[in-house]
Amino acid sequence: MQKTAKVGGDIDAWCTRCKMVLGHTILAMVGTRAARVRCNTCQGEHNYKATVAEPKRGSWEPKADRERRLAKPVVTSWEALLSQKDVSRARRYSVKERFETDDVLDHPVFGIGLVQEVQGDKMRVAFKADTKLLVHGKPG
Ligand SMILES: [Zn+2]
Repeated sequence: MQKTAKVGGDIDAWCTRCKMVLGHTILAMVGTRAARVRCNTCQGEHNYKATVAEPKRGSWEPKADRERRLAKPVVTSWEALLSQKDVSRARRYSVKERFETDDVLDHPVFGIGLVQEVQGDKMRVAFKADTKLLVHGKPG
């Protein structure tokens, strides 16, 4: 989906000064990736950073809150699903663990989830905010 980047070309990048994703001009490349860019808005030069990844000082609102509000029926069904499960027996999620359909797991980021479908080393897990495709059963 991304155009081939080249020096002098335009790229969307995180501006460290404007504190938002803006159009930048590529100043230097490392391999096929932009390394240094100049902000088209403030003319500030800085290292290329694709998008805001790390939330800093609470300036970044978790969009899960909004999605949770919009996706109310899904939340209800998720809670209904979990109400039939013994959440206290949730297993801590790890890629090395192997899970089966209907297992309850505890993910360090997404929280309590219910395994809905297992396909080989991948599984679909329903979490409160979203359904995620996770890897499991990978020997270390
Ligand atoms: Zn800027």
